Amino acid sequence: MLFRSPAKPLLDVDRLRKTFSHAGTAAVERVSLALGEGELLALLGPSGCGKTTTLRMIGGFEDPDEGSVTFEGRDITHLPPESRGIGFVFQDYALFPHLSVLDNVKFGLRKLPRAEANARAQEMLRLVGLADLGKRRPHQLSGGQQQRVALARALAVAPKLILLDEPFSNLDAKMRVETRQEVRKLLKETGSAGILVTHDQEEALALADRIAVMDAGRVVQMGTPDEIYRNPVSEFVANFIGRSNILTGTANGMNVQTAFGNLPMSRAANGAVTLAVRPEQIMLDADPNGAAIITGREFRGHDQIYWVQEGDDCLIVISGPGQQHAIGTRVTMRICDCVVPLT
Ligand code: ATP
Repeated sequence: MLFRSPAKPLLDVDRLRKTFSHAGTAAVERVSLALGEGELLALLGPSGCGKTTTLRMIGGFEDPDEGSVTFEGRDITHLPPESRGIGFVFQDYALFPHLSVLDNVKFGLRKLPRAEANARAQEMLRLVGLADLGKRRPHQLSGGQQQRVALARALAVAPKLILLDEPFSNLDAKMRVETRQEVRKLLKETGSAGILVTHDQEEALALADRIAVMDAGRVVQMGTPDEIYRNPVSEFVANFIGRSNILTGTANGMNVQTAFGNLPMSRAANGAVTLAVRPEQIMLDADPNGAAIITGREFRGHDQIYWVQEGDDCLIVISGPGQQHAIGTRVTMRICDCVVPLT
């Protein structure tokens, strides 16, 4: 499958393939993707699906067996990392411990006159909100602050593209949320495009303009967060991005006959189909004669999750705080939106 949409992409990755000699199957199997100027793409998938290997081939840290990487119209497939003009932020930030924060940020600016390098580095520290901490050493900063120094260092040389490999993995949950929004804002302000590797679907949905979902070395779906969430192409994507109920039915064009009645579909299909239904698409009505029964409940403050048994199907339903049902309550389920046929 090819996922190369922007007409004149900044980065064009064409059928990259990589097999590690002692591993039988390819770690990356013909991955193609394109990235526009200033665009933020998340490579999302479970552990071992080939995200980091793809990123490393784009960055020049791994040599592909097949395929090509074109950046700003130039074939960079076999160039070393330092000749690519691409910035990197690694999982462990890779800051120089013996250098001050300011000198870390100045590191890539060695070719500039000293005053100019100083001014640029100060400006980058101001952008990431660390203008007053330039004299400190990395170990005197919090994880989130170190992360921002790494980002300032990568952005100081004004790369058109920056690669971020799980850059928030060392931060606690609250800081992850704060830092990822800062990073998005910063990239948009500086106009740099970015590729973010993550296995965290919430992070990808919150941060990226587009998401490439990977499974077993391949890109299986690429689209905006909204497209991927609303129109997953397969059961794998439907369950990896959020939660889904999987039903079966008999489709006829844009409609499908299911155990829950005749439902509209998000795209046309015919014959026997597997369907994805999001938990928030199902409404529960208390009904003493209802065919379904609530078997489990998890209160989450802003909403609650119910497990609802109807015949052989156990469905997961997410309801707003106004809808309270005790375990054992009989209910009727209504599916109140388009369901998605899967491949
Ligand atoms: P994670 O989220 O756990 O970092 P990932 O999606 O980034 O995973 P990769 O690190 O790209 O996955 O690994 C893809 C596959 O290639 C895995 O099976 C991994 O074991 C294998 N692999 C990666 N690097 C090497 C290497 N240097 N030598 C041998 N096998 C490797």
